[in-house]
Amino acid sequence: MGARRAAHGRDPDDLSAGQVAAMLDDLKRTLLHRYGTADERRVESALRTRGRLVIPVRFHALSGGRRGRVPARAVRRQISTLNAAYAGRWGGADTGVRFRLAGFDVTDNARWFHHPQRYENRIKTRLRRGGPGTLNVFTAAVGQDVLGFSTFPQWYGEKPRLDGVVVDYRSLPDGAYRRFDRGYTAVHEIGHWLGLFHTFENGCASPGDAVADTPYEAEPAAGCPYARDTCPQRGADPVHNFMNYGWDACMREFTAGQGRRIRAAWAAYRSPRRRADLAGRDRSTSVDHGTGGGVAARSVGGAR
Ligand SMILES: [Zn+2]
Repeated sequence: MGARRAAHGRDPDDLSAGQVAAMLDDLKRTLLHRYGTADERRVESALRTRGRLVIPVRFHALSGGRRGRVPARAVRRQISTLNAAYAGRWGGADTGVRFRLAGFDVTDNARWFHHPQRYENRIKTRLRRGGPGTLNVFTAAVGQDVLGFSTFPQWYGEKPRLDGVVVDYRSLPDGAYRRFDRGYTAVHEIGHWLGLFHTFENGCASPGDAVADTPYEAEPAAGCPYARDTCPQRGADPVHNFMNYGWDACMREFTAGQGRRIRAAWAAYRSPRRRADLAGRDRSTSVDHGTGGGVAARSVGGAR
């Protein structure tokens, strides 16, 4: 979530400094409780030996008549875009995260399609599938000011049925959303789903986004600034980071520290294997609650 802006903020809501602090604290306590350490490097070095994290994706398109009927090839391209971005193919670090399409359905409901925030509860209750390790992505007409919204892994325990990511259907690769048509809105929102804050979180105030290798930044990047340094701390603003607010053409990277944060948050909240990971009893990090296959659109009748 993030600052609501006059135009093209990625998300609708602000997290307060207090909320961010509480979520970071919760992550530390959860890691300590489950793994005996809150040190993300220790947690991730133990998990890393097991290869990539492959996340099953349940893709749900909402439509209002003909609008919003996302074709299967756009969904496949979105998955490819996610895989390229999280692999560091355009720059930055390989986060170790990959995505696999595990299901795609289309639900025709004009009210849900046009007001996904108002009907978030009903939409997700009806359509979402799987447990904490399944990524549910919904597309709808999110709006003019906002491109998408997401839950954080810290929220899963209390609100498992609301877990997931909603993005504007025009933000998919080759979509109609000018400047935001490469599928990076989903990359950004899924970053939140995986536990990342904005690079400009907390502005220049400590702890910023609490990731060591994303320099402090006073405010979101808009458009595509050539170079910027808005805080006294070391390092230029991470204007090309996926967790910023620049145009899609401006975004290209995650950092190694963000990858570590993602894996730590996964270990804390989304992995079904907890102490077993550090104990080395289980070789697999592929978490799959899906049934696999099914890329063809399946129509799920409208609801209230
Ligand atoms: Zn955001």
